[in-house]
Amino acid sequence: MRILITAGPTREYIDDVRFLSNASSGRMGYSLATAAIAGGHEVVLVTGSVEQPAPEGCEVHRIETTDQLRQRCLELFPGCDGVIATAAVCDYRPKSRITGKITKTGQPMVLELVETSDVLAELGSQKGHRWIVGFALESQDPRNNAMRKLRMKKCDCIVLNDTSAIGSLTNSVEILSPDAETIAAYKGTKLYVAEQILQLIETSIHGRRSS
Ligand code: C5P
Repeated sequence: MRILITAGPTREYIDDVRFLSNASSGRMGYSLATAAIAGGHEVVLVTGSVEQPAPEGCEVHRIETTDQLRQRCLELFPGCDGVIATAAVCDYRPKSRITGKITKTGQPMVLELVETSDVLAELGSQKGHRWIVGFALESQDPRNNAMRKLRMKKCDCIVLNDTSAIGSLTNSVEILSPDAETIAAYKGTKLYVAEQILQLIETSIHGRRSS
């Protein structure tokens, strides 16, 4: 298979030197890329800025902002069999980016934020014969929120993990089907969890997508 994987955080610039982002390490996406390469698949990795080097053998596309992630994914998705979306995408961005560097005034500053585009929902709307595996990191009402995202983004399954996954070497996940069934649960290093998810995609998702 040729697999599109999104990984790491996005950044949304306030001015030319400051941005909003999150603490995603990119480890889950990079582990999935490593497991997919080891399994003989082609990997197209669209990655935000992270500390670790990209796994050898991937086609790497570096992005910073959600808009850049969206552009790259829209270009690359048609040439792939499916997408695994682990990117920790900023939900909001400053309404406008200030040129240069904002100077302190001694007064409180109000930042107006607008929603970013939902990249996976857009890929879902044009999935055709391709499969989609989403990730959801939830701290409140996890199953219901994950299922809402699965439906909105037309995922074939969604990997539910909790906030302890951020920046950690390990992960504990539950994988939900479009019928809200738990089809698998894995716990261990992110590489172990990635290998299990890949196996699940190979055996149960690829070739049996829902539209
Ligand atoms: O952030 P959220 O919990 O909605 O993420 C659910 C899934 O959607 C993840 O797979 C994430 O990579 C993807 N996503 C996206 N574009 C966004 C928000 C999330 O592709 N703007």
